[in-house]
Amino acid sequence: MSDAPGASLWHSTLPAEAKGTRPALGGDVVADVAIAGGGYTGLWTAYALKRADPGLRVVVCERETVGFGASGRNGGWCSALFAGSRDATERSHGRDAVVAMQRAMFATLDEIERVVREEAIECDWARGGTIQVATLPSHLTRLHEELEDHRSWGFGEDDFRELTPHESSDVIGCRPNLGGLFTPHCAAIHPAKLVRGLGRVVERLGVTIYEQTPVQSIEAGRLRTPHGTVRAEAVVRATEAFSTELPGLRRVVAPVYSLMIATEPLPDSFWAEARLDTRPTFADFRHMIVYGQRTADGRFAFGGRGTPYHAGSRVRPQFDRDPRIFDMLHATLRALFPALGDAAITHRWGGAVAVPRDWYPSVGFDRADGIAWAGGYVGDGVSTTNLAGRTIADLILGRDSDLVRLPWVGHRSPRWEPEPLRWLGVNGSRKLVESIDRAEARGRDPKRRARVVKRLLG
Ligand SMILES: Cc1cc2nc3c(=O)[nH]c(=O)nc-3n(C[C@H](O)[C@H](O)[C@H](O)COP(=O)(O)OP(=O)(O)OC[C@H]3O[C@@H](n4cnc5c(N)ncnc54)[C@H](O)[C@@H]3O)c2cc1C
Repeated sequence: MSDAPGASLWHSTLPAEAKGTRPALGGDVVADVAIAGGGYTGLWTAYALKRADPGLRVVVCERETVGFGASGRNGGWCSALFAGSRDATERSHGRDAVVAMQRAMFATLDEIERVVREEAIECDWARGGTIQVATLPSHLTRLHEELEDHRSWGFGEDDFRELTPHESSDVIGCRPNLGGLFTPHCAAIHPAKLVRGLGRVVERLGVTIYEQTPVQSIEAGRLRTPHGTVRAEAVVRATEAFSTELPGLRRVVAPVYSLMIATEPLPDSFWAEARLDTRPTFADFRHMIVYGQRTADGRFAFGGRGTPYHAGSRVRPQFDRDPRIFDMLHATLRALFPALGDAAITHRWGGAVAVPRDWYPSVGFDRADGIAWAGGYVGDGVSTTNLAGRTIADLILGRDSDLVRLPWVGHRSPRWEPEPLRWLGVNGSRKLVESIDRAEARGRDPKRRARVVKRLLG
């Protein structure tokens, strides 16, 4: 369909044995569980099912190749971030549910680390945490608000701590550096190596993966594809932003693009100043999210949002590229690290994240029709997908675990408005967020606009 992910740093630095394609489905088959989508959600689900019950027949149908979607192209932050708002969780499920959800996310990071080690998945795993750095005085206000929020839920210094400008500069040598918020709960990874490695692991466990196999519809008891039907008692939708292309799901999420650039490998003399010695992932406190990591081969991989939403929730390869955003990312990275100078940008790529109407991810299984789903992770799916996979496995197998009682289980986000309201809403909020960042950079304090954005984001 497209060579879109081929433009990414991650796909172009995959080892030869991790490339290649698998055969398509060659006729009707029968399984116990059939999964649409070969990204992290689909594969972690397959993994959890086979680990729980090795006898299960699990089939994955992937329209392109494993890791074609966001799982092969992301920023490589394997974090404990859960996109759903804590206040919304408290309103619907109470205070303990907020804490349980966050603790489950912390534990998910440990679980992924365990699997990566035990299954020997080479994915450049480095558990260096995350530093969020204040580069403007207004960022310091936000840093303190976030820290206060963490403390109000009982998360202490071991989970989130403030760094003085001096301490922060020891972690990240950016300019200016007014202080930071550090959490140890994040690993930097090579995302395509993780998803391809996971594909090989589940195959070793006996899962069958069909590539070049587009699912045309997900129905009770079957996945229909042009090459045949997979019949199964339980079927799983793991198609994230691409879900909008499936019948009846156009308004289930809004695909919003996140774009990335990567530099050439930078010399040790550069890193002596820029630091990031243990490869913590990094961001600042602007509203329009930017995110970065120092890769295992000494580059920056740096991304951000801000690309316009495309009417009709369309997902197209050409939307992965936007020169204006690539230039903005380059300028932002150079402003943070002036010593970057003329270092070459070797890769530019992007992909869609799936945003539910209430910005709240969900996972569930409807026992009546046998259809399970997970997604709407916004931009925080690298680790949440693992929690989703284990949760779907427990739901399908009827296990009464702590996971199935977490607040996102069974959550149903409202549908997005029909067009053109959807286009107006998503792009209007984007513009508002951009204008707040611009005003703050000019030393203003656009409190009212910031409150509107906060309300919009739940
Ligand atoms: C540029 C970018 C940066 C990001 N950075 C981060 C980050 O640093 N940290 C983080 O936590 N999250 C990040 N994310 C989000 C994260 O990557 C996703 O939330 C996560 O990968 C979702 O995994 P998934 O398996 O649900 O979806 P996907 O990886 O998108 O997988 C869905 C799969 O389904 C396949 N498919 C689609 N339609 C069909 C069909 N009809 N039939 C069969 N198969 C189909 C697709 O080809 C695809 O392989 C980022 C996303 C992007 C785009």
